[in-house]
Amino acid sequence: MSSHKSDFPILSQKIHGNPLVYLDSSATAQQPLVVLNAIQQYYEASHANVHRGVHELSARATTLFENTRKKIQKMLNASHAHEIIFTSGTTSAINLVANTFGKNFKPDDEVIISEMEHHSNIVPWQLLPVKLKVIPISDQGEIDLTEYQKLFSSKTKLVSITHASNVLGTVNPLKKIIEIAHQKNIPVLVDGAQAFPHMPVDVLDLNCDFYTFSAHKAYGPTGVGVLYGKTEALQKLPPYQGGGAMIESVSFEKSTYAPLPYKFEAGTPNIANVVGFHAALEYLTNIGMENIREHEKKLLEVATEKLNAIAGLKIIGSAKEKLGVLSFTLKDIHPHDIATILDREGIAVRAGHHCAMPIMTRFNIPACVRASFGLYNTVDDIDALVKGIETTKRIFHV
Ligand code: PMP
Repeated sequence: MSSHKSDFPILSQKIHGNPLVYLDSSATAQQPLVVLNAIQQYYEASHANVHRGVHELSARATTLFENTRKKIQKMLNASHAHEIIFTSGTTSAINLVANTFGKNFKPDDEVIISEMEHHSNIVPWQLLPVKLKVIPISDQGEIDLTEYQKLFSSKTKLVSITHASNVLGTVNPLKKIIEIAHQKNIPVLVDGAQAFPHMPVDVLDLNCDFYTFSAHKAYGPTGVGVLYGKTEALQKLPPYQGGGAMIESVSFEKSTYAPLPYKFEAGTPNIANVVGFHAALEYLTNIGMENIREHEKKLLEVATEKLNAIAGLKIIGSAKEKLGVLSFTLKDIHPHDIATILDREGIAVRAGHHCAMPIMTRFNIPACVRASFGLYNTVDDIDALVKGIETTKRIFHV
């Protein structure tokens, strides 16, 4: 794959006098110029509220907004456009399911999650009267499928699991996980925040009941997310938030609700950023999700080899199927110190618990450094990271 760095205006700048090396795409990805232009063009030529007006601008805004829905349907291979619900992000999509599907949970009902979940797929369930059953992970950072099967009981209501870990990079064997749950008639929600931007996703092939992701991690704007749900799964859910756009009729005695997807889209949505997201999705499909996956796999291979060769550096997570995510510790140097020194070299990495505190507990570390790759990263970026780590070692005399 040729380099796409020049498509991203933000990446051409210097940080502390050094060329920016952006290795924090798992937290949020950068936007190509086409996305920024699409948002500006939308505001300059087509902005109006959607679904409401008969005037030309409203019709244009509605068409652009709905085109993004259709594009997502196509990319996910979903059966219908109405199975795509716009939210403000993965977190709000999971909370939507928790607050509707989980509405009638009883305190001794159970939701199965895994030890590698982001807080967004732990805390929404803890706000409900429901118990969490947790699938353990191995030292390599892989799901234990035998233990998983043992967690089902007559109280199990849902399996809610990440497609890929934002710390370990592990890509979970979702098809198997979903098949096992369905054999027991249990629906599955997938947190696709990390996977969707980095690999092809086919919801029909996976056969998941719900799939969630965020636009900002997929080279789109912030404030937009997606909940995919099978029609029959979404139809069973009560409305989430009440307000404009989600109703069919309203009186003081009784209101009736709009059909899918509008039933779950109360209020004015994030129109401009949904339109901008369309440009990001076009950009991704033009490059090809398979090509992106291959490119990032190669980067991971190179980076793993180079980082493993650094004495005192320990990579957390060595699953067979991994995304371009490399978390590590370096002797007993605090991850924040490492990230601060790297920042002085222009290298943006993340340090901390990465909103996945149970993983830190599992690997018995307080925090770690994470370098995560996007489609714009190159082997030169990895070389810069290695150089930065060597500088850190010299400063700390380790
Ligand atoms: N799940 C995973 C695996 C994530 O990595 C993230 C973001 N770090 C989220 C959920 C939450 O995404 P958002 O903040 O966009 O809602």
